[in-house]
Amino acid sequence: MAHIQQLPSSVVTKIAAGEVIERPASVVKELLENSIDAGSTRIDVEIEQGGGDLIRVVDNGCGIDAEDMALAFASHATSKLRNADDLFHIETLGFRGEALASIGGVAQVMLQSRTHSQLSGCEITCHGGELSPVRAWNGTPGTRIEVKHLFFNTPVRRKFLRSTSTEAGHISENLTRIALAHPGLHLTLKHNGKLIYEVPGTADLLERVGLFFGEEVRAGLYPIEAQREDVHLYGFIADPSVERGNAKLQYLFLNGRWIRDRSLLHAFQEAYRGLLMTGRYAVGFLFLDMPPDRVDVNVHPTKCEVRFREGQFLYSMMLSTVRNRLSAENLTAKLQVTSTLQKPMVPPSTYGGHMPPDVFGTGFPQAPPSFSGPLPLPPVFPEPAPRQNPSLSSPAQENGNPPLPLTKGENESLSAAELQSAFASAQASPSSVEHSFLPPEQNSHAIQLYNAYLVLETPEGMLVIDQHALHERILFEQFKRRIREGTLETQRLLIPEPLELNAEQAALVLEHQNELAELGLQVEDFGGGTILLQSYPAILGNRSPQKILKAVVDHLTGKERLPTREHLLNDLLSLMACHSAVRAGDALNPEQIASLIAQRHLADDAHHCPHGRPTALLFSRHDLDRQFGRI
Ligand code: ADP
Ligand code: MG
Repeated sequence: MAHIQQLPSSVVTKIAAGEVIERPASVVKELLENSIDAGSTRIDVEIEQGGGDLIRVVDNGCGIDAEDMALAFASHATSKLRNADDLFHIETLGFRGEALASIGGVAQVMLQSRTHSQLSGCEITCHGGELSPVRAWNGTPGTRIEVKHLFFNTPVRRKFLRSTSTEAGHISENLTRIALAHPGLHLTLKHNGKLIYEVPGTADLLERVGLFFGEEVRAGLYPIEAQREDVHLYGFIADPSVERGNAKLQYLFLNGRWIRDRSLLHAFQEAYRGLLMTGRYAVGFLFLDMPPDRVDVNVHPTKCEVRFREGQFLYSMMLSTVRNRLSAENLTAKLQVTSTLQKPMVPPSTYGGHMPPDVFGTGFPQAPPSFSGPLPLPPVFPEPAPRQNPSLSSPAQENGNPPLPLTKGENESLSAAELQSAFASAQASPSSVEHSFLPPEQNSHAIQLYNAYLVLETPEGMLVIDQHALHERILFEQFKRRIREGTLETQRLLIPEPLELNAEQAALVLEHQNELAELGLQVEDFGGGTILLQSYPAILGNRSPQKILKAVVDHLTGKERLPTREHLLNDLLSLMACHSAVRAGDALNPEQIASLIAQRHLADDAHHCPHGRPTALLFSRHDLDRQFGRI
């Protein structure tokens, strides 16, 4: 074993930098925080090649004294903290004194600064930890910092950088957080000389939300505000219709700092229970202000996670504030308007005078079992989907389209060969559940319960099918088969549909252009974060391809790291299937029920939806007889 040695400070810095500086966006975050701590009212950010080549941040803050220039790059050197007690009264974004030292250790940094009382400023460089002497600098008051060739001396880390547009997207996300947390701040971002964002100091929070996330989000917001003891919660929460496929648009800020907090975001999401489909996320911009001694911000190197003294108190404050606001909008009532159950299949007395079970997990026990989400759309089963005039249809009509009538009988919708192979595979299957479907005519007696389950009699017993899970499985396999066979019909749009995204999302979509094209979703860059949708899979029927593309985008951006191509395709397929399938809450007519059940035989794995949930449960005849004491 080698002797133990103290590591040289250059190595220590590189190790520390690994924690704080993960990618160009981390540099931008730290520099922006320093500018804000310096009281700046205007910050201009310029990056080149996703920040890997250059990051320049210019602010009009208080500036740095000549004698502090070198200290700014020293580890654990800060002007924001004097003693350990101060750690519990942090009112600045920075306090660890680590950022500049870390950045200077892994890049070529030029720091130029002038305080407002000085007549001229000074500059210093730090290249991979090597400091230059301090020189005079003739600039305006404020600080200007240039970070070139990030990770130039740590080639492995440089290799880990993703595409320019992805890195730029992460930077834009960090800038967004700062812009939302600091109304009054004038902020600009340029990438390769092109102005990406200009947020005027006069733009209030709502305008900022509109600027970054578009009009649709902004228009769907309700203000919230609550004060309990010395904790102030305020901001905007979105109408459930503004939902997303991931939690990225759940922004939470504590004392002006963007934070991640699973517990508080859980409370927020919980408040929407019953108003959103499972797997969908609410949108909100939530601000918490409290005395700094109620929270420990020193638990995470990048300061994104904090520890609250009274977690439970805050959880319930969040939950009740958001929930009350949503009920003030009468949103719970909207979900209860109509009962689309065709017939009362279960006599009320079955419930023994109690409320029906909370089958949809709505959390609102007062909701009748007819909870219906979006308006029922017909399923898109019949294959191949006939298209009379492909060039003229536009997905923009998604709500105006008359629903595709699903009048085909089960036998018409299936080719003889398909039926045959289905029977063959069913017979080969060892599962009694699968056998119970033969012959298919028996299935026409299925009834629908709660607009969610199909119940049918089989020789083995009573089979309860989850209509969404089954349809999802069938569509998933149809998609897959057609892609494999190269028979996926795509529908070209006469007029491409624009989709407005933020820079990060647009970059991700473009990075996956090929995979998306394989799925029939052809996209093209229109510039400025706008993506044009050129075509979509015809199998989607009258579901909005734009909505599905949006869900795909959410899915891509929700991933921490990218999956393999095969995983990605699988993921996206199941996502498209999920979005196209009938849902719990959709009333189905008898033909639709019959068609769905008939196609069950065509699925290779009819027992599980693509996410692995069961599609059907069997209550065996034997069990029923036994429970009722017949045997
Ligand atoms: P921290 O922000 O945790 O104090 P940093 O390494 O980020 O540590 O910065 C070190 C010090 O450099 C800060 O405490 C501050 O005094 C000074 N500094 C850095 N950036 C700026 C800036 N843009 N304007 C004024 N002072 C700055
Ligand atoms: Mg700092």
